[in-house]
Amino acid sequence: MNDILRIAVQKSGRLSEDSFALIKECGIDFQNGIGQLKAQATNFPAEFLLLRDDDIPGYVADGVADIGIVGENVMAEKGKNVAIAHRLGFSKCRLSIAIPKNEEYKGVKGLEGKNIATSYPKILQKFLKENRVAADIHEISGSVEIAPSIGLAEAICDLVSSGSTLFTNGLKEAEVIFKSEAVLIKQTNLSAGKTILLDKLLFRIKSVQNARKNKYILLNAPKSKLEEIKKLIPGMRSPSIMELADPEWVSMHSVINENDFWDVIEALREAGAEGILVVPIEKMIL
Ligand code: ATP
Ligand code: ZN
Repeated sequence: MNDILRIAVQKSGRLSEDSFALIKECGIDFQNGIGQLKAQATNFPAEFLLLRDDDIPGYVADGVADIGIVGENVMAEKGKNVAIAHRLGFSKCRLSIAIPKNEEYKGVKGLEGKNIATSYPKILQKFLKENRVAADIHEISGSVEIAPSIGLAEAICDLVSSGSTLFTNGLKEAEVIFKSEAVLIKQTNLSAGKTILLDKLLFRIKSVQNARKNKYILLNAPKSKLEEIKKLIPGMRSPSIMELADPEWVSMHSVINENDFWDVIEALREAGAEGILVVPIEKMIL
């Protein structure tokens, strides 16, 4: 059986760069020619479909693609029959309601009867319904942030990351209604053969994500402080300890998490560690 995994990826846009980088770090190579809509992987049984992000949930649901990388916001808005196979942690943004800067936000109820412009009518409708607010949704496909200034709407519901686009358009963020990140979606009835390929890919993705979250650390420790320092860098199982030519000292190697990186480094120095080296990890297999 010669199964091949068809992977839908945004051709060019805010998801593309990180999607292609992740695929590359998973060791999958493909030739991406300009204007090309399809590309064959050269060293993994996969084929890439390069599409507009809006089309990805539909293609996956219909089985034209087996899996795809898309923003959770688009997945939710399209409401297609697809499942999340894995969260990818990039392209983080939020879908928010914004109102003119000089207006006071009186809570969700204050939106009653207002005209709200958005490209995400389904997600907005759901939010309004849950909050029992009746408002008019005006669907537009782009440049939503200019709607209030041209008199098209009294509020908007749009994607925000820093808020600077809102600000330059005289708006302020009033309410976050949906938090999003890139997700790997899959068809709900993948064949057994394709499931094996997806599992292989997921294994690689998780190894890449673990490696990004951790650093390899090497240091010299006085033998008298060994137990104290060991507790600070427990590593994957336990740290490696190597003798140095100086009988009073040892070299220790371990793995530390990026989240508490600086706290650990400070504690290590206080405990007497010297010559601390921190290096990136390329892959981390758990
Ligand atoms: P396409 O041409 O493929 O239809 P698009 O213009 O609809 O692209 P992009 O602007 O490239 O879409 O955004 C794609 C996705 O990236 C969004 O659906 C969202 O999940 C995420 N995203 C949007 N804005 C931001 C942002 N400011 N920062 C990070 N991620 C974002
Ligand atoms: Zn789009």
